[in-house]
Amino acid sequence: MKVVSPRTLEAALRALRDGGKDARLLAGGTDLMVELESGRTSPEIVVDLWSVAELRYARAEDGGARFGALTTCADLLRTNETPDVLAAAAREVGAAQIQNRATLGGNLGTASPAADLVPVLLALGARVRLASLRGLRELAVEEFLTGYRTTARAPDELVESVFVPARPPNEERRVRKVGTRRAQSIAKLVVALCWTLDERGHVRALRGGAGSLAERTVRLVELERALRGQPLDPARVRAAARTSSARDVRPRDDVRSTATYRRRVFERVVTALLLGG
Ligand SMILES: Cc1cc2nc3c(=O)[nH]c(=O)nc-3n(C[C@H](O)[C@H](O)[C@H](O)COP(=O)(O)OP(=O)(O)OC[C@H]3O[C@@H](n4cnc5c(N)ncnc54)[C@H](O)[C@@H]3O)c2cc1C
Repeated sequence: MKVVSPRTLEAALRALRDGGKDARLLAGGTDLMVELESGRTSPEIVVDLWSVAELRYARAEDGGARFGALTTCADLLRTNETPDVLAAAAREVGAAQIQNRATLGGNLGTASPAADLVPVLLALGARVRLASLRGLRELAVEEFLTGYRTTARAPDELVESVFVPARPPNEERRVRKVGTRRAQSIAKLVVALCWTLDERGHVRALRGGAGSLAERTVRLVELERALRGQPLDPARVRAAARTSSARDVRPRDDVRSTATYRRRVFERVVTALLLGG
């Protein structure tokens, strides 16, 4: 296995293009090193992005904030640009050692249904910018994720940054991760919700994302549809959570949890987040 360690984005993109399908990106390595160690993957070339300083930034931009792909969970916790709900999710990723290495680009790039930052990015309406020597293109997070550990990234592209739109006035934002314990656990499920109410107290806009509840992180479109224009009263919220549990998510039994548990807890978490519990 050959490891190349470019220092600029341009050099990284060249290495990626030259490596073609044999090349694999490495950022913090908290997922990839585990895969390499277990023999689950054995790429010919590893393009190590860690020294590409231009991919590590957080800055305000017109209409929101942009985070470079190499922004770590610890970086997210240090900058004021980070939306509160994304900071809350970053705080629950692994422990301090993992947070110092785990990057935003890696959390997206791994495309694991259990990636904690991704449901929040979906709920925030974030967009992923991909770079290659051919140029830049931007996709909604739901367009970027195509299936279990698969993405819309072409072999010569990398995640360059993530754009998060500015908070609409009075937007409520909540996230909850359910794991075996409060720290150092991979999620049994994660739910993130962002919503605004109109002057009558009816839902004007709602976006939701959920992790570990299907083969990929999913947007909660049926929940959004059921509650749009509706008041958030307990009966309506519970009914919408049941609809969403039946239609938005497809949990499976695995080592961390059963599908039945996940559906039941999902409904309770959605209800609690929306009703302020
Ligand atoms: C002990 C431990 C605990 C963990 N706990 C959690 C947890 O609580 N929550 C959670 O969400 N995750 C957890 N993880 C998983 C991991 O830390 C995260 O998924 C992390 O965000 C991965 O980022 P990374 O920079 O380390 O990615 P890497 O391991 O470097 O890469 C991961 C994948 O993304 C690809 N990739 C990396 N950068 C890019 C890029 N810029 N563009 C495109 N593809 C890219 C790589 O090729 C690889 O396929 C844990 C891991 C460990 C080892």
